[in-house]
Amino acid sequence: MATAAMLIGACSPKEAAEENKSWSVDRFADIEVLRYEVPCFEQLSLQQKSLVYYLTEAAQWGRDILWDQNCKYNLGIRFICEQVYLNYNGDKEDAQWKAFEQYMKQIWFANGIHHHYSNAKFIPGFTQEWLEGQIEQLDSETQAGIAIVLFGNKDIDKAIFDPDFMNIKVNQADGVDLIATSACNFYEGLTQNEVEAYYNKLKDPKDPHPVMFGLNSKLVKEDGKIVEKVWKEGGMYGEYIQKITENLEKAMQYAENDQQRLVIEKLIAYYRSGDLKDFDDYSIEWVKDLNSKVDFINGYIESYNDPLGMRGSWEAMVNFKDSANTARTEVISDNAQWFEDHSPVDPRFRKPVVKGVTAKVITAAILAGDSYPATPIGINLPNSNWIRAEHGSKSVSIDNITAAYDAAAAGNGFAEEFMWSQEEIERVKKFGHYTDNVHTDLHECLGHASGQLLPGVDPDAMKSYGSTLEEARADIFALYYMADPKLVELGVMPDAEAYKAAYYQQMMNGLMTQLMRILPGDNIEEAHMRNRALIAYWTLERAAKDAAADGTEPALCFANREGKTFVKINDYAKLREYFAELLGELQRIKSEGDYEAGRALVETYAVKVNPELHNEVLARYAKLDIAPYKGFVNPRYELVQTEEGTITDVKIVYGSESYVEQMLRYGREYSFK
Ligand code: ZN
Repeated sequence: MATAAMLIGACSPKEAAEENKSWSVDRFADIEVLRYEVPCFEQLSLQQKSLVYYLTEAAQWGRDILWDQNCKYNLGIRFICEQVYLNYNGDKEDAQWKAFEQYMKQIWFANGIHHHYSNAKFIPGFTQEWLEGQIEQLDSETQAGIAIVLFGNKDIDKAIFDPDFMNIKVNQADGVDLIATSACNFYEGLTQNEVEAYYNKLKDPKDPHPVMFGLNSKLVKEDGKIVEKVWKEGGMYGEYIQKITENLEKAMQYAENDQQRLVIEKLIAYYRSGDLKDFDDYSIEWVKDLNSKVDFINGYIESYNDPLGMRGSWEAMVNFKDSANTARTEVISDNAQWFEDHSPVDPRFRKPVVKGVTAKVITAAILAGDSYPATPIGINLPNSNWIRAEHGSKSVSIDNITAAYDAAAAGNGFAEEFMWSQEEIERVKKFGHYTDNVHTDLHECLGHASGQLLPGVDPDAMKSYGSTLEEARADIFALYYMADPKLVELGVMPDAEAYKAAYYQQMMNGLMTQLMRILPGDNIEEAHMRNRALIAYWTLERAAKDAAADGTEPALCFANREGKTFVKINDYAKLREYFAELLGELQRIKSEGDYEAGRALVETYAVKVNPELHNEVLARYAKLDIAPYKGFVNPRYELVQTEEGTITDVKIVYGSESYVEQMLRYGREYSFK
């Protein structure tokens, strides 16, 4: 079991965060680019650092594969635009240039000419004449290079300027040919019916271990015949894949153990054969590798960019286990029985034997391919259903990425706009990221696992209210225990006051600020949002009732200042007593299957929205001008070598390049175009 000193580690992201003021690197259109830290990288062994280094190199080399997968014009457009961008000598205040610069930044961010989230094509704010005029001013060698690109991409001008041509990357609409109407580059010369017929013939419904057909190939019709162009060494994207396998081979020399070496070996074998059975073999070994500190993803993984959901977009991420945060989830899990035995619910509803779940926390070292610059905050792989069923899966959360989001949000004005006083702002700044994580751990590792049904009670008794009530039960379990001295004693909470940050955020969110995600006139529908409203509005009413009875200040209330509404907490200890009461009631409802009481709680507190408060929140939020989408620049890794080439260290470098510089360097160093 871990000790308290290990839990609040010396290189936790929060402390790294405080040293560095600026997390925002660039801002354009609907995007904000942030940077992230890689805490504890320095504490890795030289072998682990070397392994990370070569895995990050392997991760960078797939970038152009993804660009080409996203649309066949992407690499050509990037080449032309980068030439113009690099050689422009005109007025940087010119409206045409400014529109061009924004377009360039947008296509870098989206890995192509379609928005990474909405899939819609970017509409340039500069004219075709302007771009052609810029190309004419380039030197003859660059112009010759562009002429070659234009010759190979006949409709490239339409791809940039015609709003109706290839206007959506992935079309999901009903009743049309999804392949003909999607701009992604996974099929050529084929109708949707032909593709479906082709794979229906290959699929054997009785096969218990089916491969993921089409995951690593483009399907084309050549001379009337359907051909799968496999993405492998010696096949399509072969030169890039060779660079990937070269670096994987180097990485293999620094593997931490035999299992990890086997994982890398299997991945190389798959990149060489292109055989999807080899991919399954690799995935099975990858799931089994639980002891290595360093881990990685590299390949064709998620299929959201294919309208038929078959082709995998190229993606990579290198990471290592966040020992301090994972130790915390282990401590919580190891003490699951204590929490269950002390839970403020009727003893009949407690589990005699409870087993906590351990969540793994990782630190990302590099983001690449479809995980860059926009990235997920959790990973749950592999995607093959039968491998998940027979061999399991790995599910992790990426703490240094969420830490960067939180640190960047600290400067966006949100806290100052919506929190009651400097006291709450300071406390959330100091503890907010940490208490968020502990709240999630308690919710996931203990909350859902706690409690039992009385004999004969139907587990589905709550029907459509079930998920809201279950999320509320897990959340209130977490909230109740966050203030327990036991957590400080175990070293899970850093300070006896820290829980107040979580209490304030939870109440503010549930009573007010989560409304910014709802359209005017709509009710609250999503289960997690309903759960937060339920807890907050139930507690608000409970506090008002006590205050009215004994004439004191309510523990929780709305307060007004200069025409703005705020949430105010006057008595945190009292709040915890209310949470204990609500936990007892939510557990009773579940254990007894009391549908009517459950329905009444949800309908009374969790669904309806006060339209005046809603409009106020929306208006105040809009003024903050917070970018809806965020992504990241990577740090750089540099080998330190002796004259003979022996690696003596791997250095991590932050902040040495801007977003634009990083994009241009990736284009220079990891591209054959
Ligand atoms: Zn949950």
